[in-house]
Amino acid sequence: MRSNLCNRCGTCVGLGNGKILFQDREGKYYPKIISPLTKEEAKIILNACSGHEFHFPEFNQWLFSSAPHYNRWMGSYENLYIGHANDEIVRSNAGSGGILSALLIYLLEKGEIQGAVSLKMSTDKPWLTEPFIATSKEEILESAQSKYIISSVNEILPQIARFDGKLAYVGLPGQVQAIRKLQKIQHPAVRNISYIFGPFYGNTLHVSSIRSFLAAHKEKDLNSIKKIYFRYGEWPGRMRIEMKNGRIMELPKFHANYLIPFHILKNSLLCTDLTNEFTDISGGDAWAPVYEERGKGFSMVIARSKQGQQLLENMLNQHLITLWPIAEEEAIKMHSHGYDLKKRGTFIRMRFRKLLGLKNPDYGYKISEFSASRYLMEILIDFLFLLFRTRPARYIADHIPQKTMGHIFETARKYWKKATYSTKREKL
Ligand SMILES: Cc1cc2nc3c(=O)[nH]c(=O)nc-3n(C[C@H](O)[C@H](O)[C@H](O)COP(=O)(O)OP(=O)(O)OC[C@H]3O[C@@H](n4cnc5c(N)ncnc54)[C@H](O)[C@@H]3O)c2cc1C
Repeated sequence: MRSNLCNRCGTCVGLGNGKILFQDREGKYYPKIISPLTKEEAKIILNACSGHEFHFPEFNQWLFSSAPHYNRWMGSYENLYIGHANDEIVRSNAGSGGILSALLIYLLEKGEIQGAVSLKMSTDKPWLTEPFIATSKEEILESAQSKYIISSVNEILPQIARFDGKLAYVGLPGQVQAIRKLQKIQHPAVRNISYIFGPFYGNTLHVSSIRSFLAAHKEKDLNSIKKIYFRYGEWPGRMRIEMKNGRIMELPKFHANYLIPFHILKNSLLCTDLTNEFTDISGGDAWAPVYEERGKGFSMVIARSKQGQQLLENMLNQHLITLWPIAEEEAIKMHSHGYDLKKRGTFIRMRFRKLLGLKNPDYGYKISEFSASRYLMEILIDFLFLLFRTRPARYIADHIPQKTMGHIFETARKYWKKATYSTKREKL
């Protein structure tokens, strides 16, 4: 915590027997020790914490030693696909192609699990996320779609431990890594978890992003919010806030991305795992013009474990999902900007941190030997992140009409993508 390596996964809160709590969820969202831990508690929590250490090679060996493929950007896998759920309600309700929701619904209806650890927006405070155990199709549909503000799924470890039945678990990479660490030591809190799924993970934002969204519409009070969606409507969807007074505010997903540099959780920039490398199955957006033009919702799906592969095949045979195999090169191309940000960018940022005397997470591997142009690009990116996070920058952003901000951001993003095309794809 003191080294700022906390990824807010919630594991310490879940294992802390009430002695560690999140006290400022609307602020920095740090866990806080409120009464002394025993040595034994502290030892288990530190061991399970994925923020300071998670050895990729060790867990790859443990989980996927017989996987036919390993790729340094995507991790181990059985097969790569583009796909979607065939149930139109599931697909249109989801973040991308609805694959993650479809998996959970299938397992639940088959009786292979009795609950799914998922994430919804809180009913009392709809600007905060809330992990819970879904036990019906309706609850799974309610928890679908990506939530781009901080989530701390593992804080419900006590509920997971008490649950009577088998569970599927959905989480971001840091959350999944902590669950895997607990599984490796056969911790009783995770013995019910039979399947682990997860979305790809670029970054997540503080609640200040919601305040900013409101401010751009001359609204102030979080308490006036009735509901928030981050991927509402047809893929890729819109960020949408519904107010108690009936007012509705929306912004296309790519335009809402302008909030990222102003409100990003800094720890997202220390994560090297874009594709959720330690799940049974992970899913991301199928970012390619051929799919984006069609709308409707397409996912990139990575089957990592044998049981994940088998599950997808069973669902395919029962016409519950559609999958097209894709080649590794196509998959890499689809998220080349993400791999560059996570795999190259993070290791360069960690070098900068080391030079400044700051601590870094220990991932048990390193990627190095980047070109001078990539270092220069990183200096520029980091400078912009620092600049945009200042109060004056946020103030200005909040007072420019949101549509204009969205257009500026989208145009700048396209220009940036073009200008950095070769630097980012170098040796991918
Ligand atoms: C914070 C975040 C960042 C992402 N960044 C990228 C990216 O850079 N590139 C990319 O291709 N894809 C990214 N994704 C993944 C993408 O948005 C979709 O989630 C993914 O394609 C799966 O789509 P789906 O339709 O199968 O999922 P759905 O059927 O909509 O199911 C989503 C599942 O994920 C769970 N979930 C949603 N948000 C969170 C959260 N914050 N924490 C824990 N669990 C959550 C839900 O409870 C649900 O079970 C990101 C997702 C999130 C949440």
